[in-house]
Amino acid sequence: MSRYGTAQDQARAAALASLAPGTRCPRCGWPMYATWQEARGSRLPRKLWHLDLGHWPGLAHGGPQQLRLEHAYCNRRAGQATAAARRRRALPPLRPRQRRPVTAARRRARW
Ligand SMILES: [Zn+2]
Repeated sequence: MSRYGTAQDQARAAALASLAPGTRCPRCGWPMYATWQEARGSRLPRKLWHLDLGHWPGLAHGGPQQLRLEHAYCNRRAGQATAAARRRRALPPLRPRQRRPVTAARRRARW
């Protein structure tokens, strides 16, 4: 299950297909590889194997977004940093946590 749904998944797959092996990550400058086989062969740290189609400058900044491949590690770390900065400034989270409604079945299941 992906956060952004099928259109984003297809865009990511297309971007991966056209990624030249070793293209630099726009966030950290380390190389990116479309497949784990290539990544393993390159001795890249395992945390940098997976790639996201990230938003630039970031959904929290609003405005038009550019989609680009970057390490999932770098993309998600940037998102965490943005969330932390929002908490420091006492801003509400960009994407509030969804609470599952307590249904009758779940209430009965409790001890
Ligand atoms: Zn990176």
